[in-house]
Amino acid sequence: MTRVPKPRPARGPRTRAVHGDHGGTIGPVSTPIVHSATFSFPSLAAMDAEQDRAAAGAYYQRLGHPTLHACEERLAGLEGSEGALLFASGMAALASIFLASLKSGDHVVAFHQSYGGTLNLLRWGQERLGWSVEYADARDPSGWEKAFRRETRLMHVESPTNPILCVVDLERAARLAHAHGARLVVDNTVASPLGQHPLALGADLVMYSATKSIGGHSDLLAGAAAGTHAALAPVWEARKVFGPVPDPSVAWQIERSLKTLPLRVATANANALELARRLGAHPGVARTFYPGLPSHPEHAVAARQMSLGFGPLLSFEVHGGAAAAESLVNAFQLVRHAPSLGSVETLSCLPASTSHIHLGPEGRARAGIPEGLVRISAGIEDIEDLWADLDQAIARAATLTPASDSRR
Ligand code: PLP
Repeated sequence: MTRVPKPRPARGPRTRAVHGDHGGTIGPVSTPIVHSATFSFPSLAAMDAEQDRAAAGAYYQRLGHPTLHACEERLAGLEGSEGALLFASGMAALASIFLASLKSGDHVVAFHQSYGGTLNLLRWGQERLGWSVEYADARDPSGWEKAFRRETRLMHVESPTNPILCVVDLERAARLAHAHGARLVVDNTVASPLGQHPLALGADLVMYSATKSIGGHSDLLAGAAAGTHAALAPVWEARKVFGPVPDPSVAWQIERSLKTLPLRVATANANALELARRLGAHPGVARTFYPGLPSHPEHAVAARQMSLGFGPLLSFEVHGGAAAAESLVNAFQLVRHAPSLGSVETLSCLPASTSHIHLGPEGRARAGIPEGLVRISAGIEDIEDLWADLDQAIARAATLTPASDSRR
């Protein structure tokens, strides 16, 4: 009797992060960095064949290169997508997706709560490329449909949103976008490729600022997009035209970071949940925003669609408004005051002065972002050290804050 080999069970995310598709093969354990701007061929026919491989080829570095492909394959393996593309920044990934998807006259639905750079990109496209945009409120799903028009081609969604952590029901957004003939693009930066799988929930493309959890060490700038080969093909064309391709060293650094992504995300998410719980019970804190808290309005949606905890990002308001928030970040001794997220170090920032400064007070009020909001991106340090620093900073802010705060 001949034995039929059993199909290999799908490997777990930690195994896929460490080994990618290379598990068990012979050769270098770490991906070699191929520093070559161009590639040579024995004949014109061979060169043409390589060019025909498009995004998968190694023909000229701007079009793609071997170190990049190794990293893109490993990322697609974690995302569960057919393919992935890397970019020189998150904004380069998003701009390439928008440029590949929209023509003059096309309409976009996005949320007031989108990342500030995304709002800038959309404004730029409105002023120079003839796009039109309608903004909906992420917190009010019953109002999303009103934002659609006959010309709507794309719905852009972040979940959880940065910095007040609104959670968008991605299946609902996908159904709505598709019913209106539009595609759904999800910025999955805050959740990370392991924390949420928007493609499985109906999204057409997912994108990342890989500067955040994917890179994870505050030492590189990069972006990524993932989806089917068909959905990525025009995005690859846009990358080829504008050229924002990570070089071999950065591609290698990103691939190395992917190996520890599951461990980093799990620890940071656990730290964020614990900090949110303690902040929520602290008398010096007026309000805490975190989807992992049962009091969060979309906690049930987050619990359903986020698979590895509720993300590393939380935010809170102390009593005393903007001045108190400023005193607080100035008082940190361990937590770094820096505008990024998803890193091994715990970082803090004041969104009204950084990521959402250009919205102005009115725009921030519309998006529900308080002027005195402090945003924390939990890292992987020991929780008691983080809590000791937050607790002392809240106490110091209370003593330094003038009783009447005119900046609130
Ligand atoms: N999307 C989100 C949610 C972000 O927070 C950021 C950056 O902070 C970006 C996109 C842009 O990414 P990058 O800074 O890598 O261009």
